[in-house]
Amino acid sequence: MRRFRANSRRTHGATLALFAVTALLLAAAVAHAVPLASPDAAATPAAGAGYAGHQVLRVFLDKHDLASVRSALQGTDIWTDLALTSTYVDVRADAAHAAQLRTQFRTEVLIADVEAAMTASTQPATVSDDGAAGPGRNAVDGEVAADAVSAKFGIGTNYLGYDAMRSMWDAMAAQWPGRVTVAKVGASYENRTIAAVKVTSGKDGGKEGGKKTVVVVSGLHAREWIAPAATINIMSNLASTYGTVPRVTALLDTFDFYFVPIVNVDGYEYSMTKDRLWRKNRQPTSSSCIGIDLNRNFPYKWSPPSSTATPCDATYPGSKAGEAMEITALTNWITTLPNLVAFYDLHAYSQLWMYPFGYACNAQPTDAAALAAVASTAQAAMNATGAPFAVGSICSTIYEAAGSSADWAYAAPRSHSVTRSSGA
Ligand SMILES: [Zn+2]
Repeated sequence: MRRFRANSRRTHGATLALFAVTALLLAAAVAHAVPLASPDAAATPAAGAGYAGHQVLRVFLDKHDLASVRSALQGTDIWTDLALTSTYVDVRADAAHAAQLRTQFRTEVLIADVEAAMTASTQPATVSDDGAAGPGRNAVDGEVAADAVSAKFGIGTNYLGYDAMRSMWDAMAAQWPGRVTVAKVGASYENRTIAAVKVTSGKDGGKEGGKKTVVVVSGLHAREWIAPAATINIMSNLASTYGTVPRVTALLDTFDFYFVPIVNVDGYEYSMTKDRLWRKNRQPTSSSCIGIDLNRNFPYKWSPPSSTATPCDATYPGSKAGEAMEITALTNWITTLPNLVAFYDLHAYSQLWMYPFGYACNAQPTDAAALAAVASTAQAAMNATGAPFAVGSICSTIYEAAGSSADWAYAAPRSHSVTRSSGA
């Protein structure tokens, strides 16, 4: 399988997350990452957002307490979640902050010049007909085996703009009629179509409507380009290997998969053309700052912004649950799906497999033991690839975070008309 390239080797595990779905449980894969890699050649390089002098540092926490660490990191951009068990945190900092952090902590420079790294990563990559790396390609790990199917759909060499992605899954639908179909979830604030791609064997699981539904979403956070790329890779692999790979055949005969590769379509395009590190959507707020953090805006146990938060913050949760148009569209659509048994939300940077709940650490899902068991299965699969993942509930693994996709998907659709299958 050809992999999408990312300059961070820590992101590769994302493509494997799907297969834990065989455990038939509601779960969410959530990790946070900011891969710096190349957009598609047609996109305008997004280097001009003023990151000159910025560095990415690994800050080792050693004996520092979390409160003092959080205080010291104010004004920086935290790339790895600052978890209770963290031994380090990766942050982007401007020159002054970076210098200050060096005096306070033991540090390691991960990216010495962020802007230069962005510029380098926007050089167009090329791939020869046999799929081998071309002169513009930065093959990081050698995982670039030719894959005729992936090559056919342009997968594997560049991060694509949204229009190019839409062309790709339209082509998949044409290639595998009945197995791949494209539907509309809704519209973004800037009126882009949020698309869903259904991959199914076409079999009905023994009775009409009898198959179980798995939802995979990605691209809630604009800058995490590897996540939509991984989702498209998963879609392509499922569609192309049904009937030839027994595990995939069994999966598609048991489940219908619905993928939403990019929820935050506006933010994604903005990150490609204006600001590589943009995270939120592009909806206006009550202030002059734009954007709501989609993964803080889901309408389940949503919390209003803290007294110190402002709409300018990268994690601004909105002024009310479901305020973001993309979230309303997504949640309305998911609620219409029959037999939903699993939900995955792929993010990037960090290697964490997290499940509900995030809104409170003392809230226990009724399936906590089963969710933990699925997580352990996933963890073992990740470890086998050389990408060790930490697992746990969102709150216990990182911190209290309300309004996340995982909390909503676990708790909310079941209060509507969705029936969970027995044994799931
Ligand atoms: Zn994210």
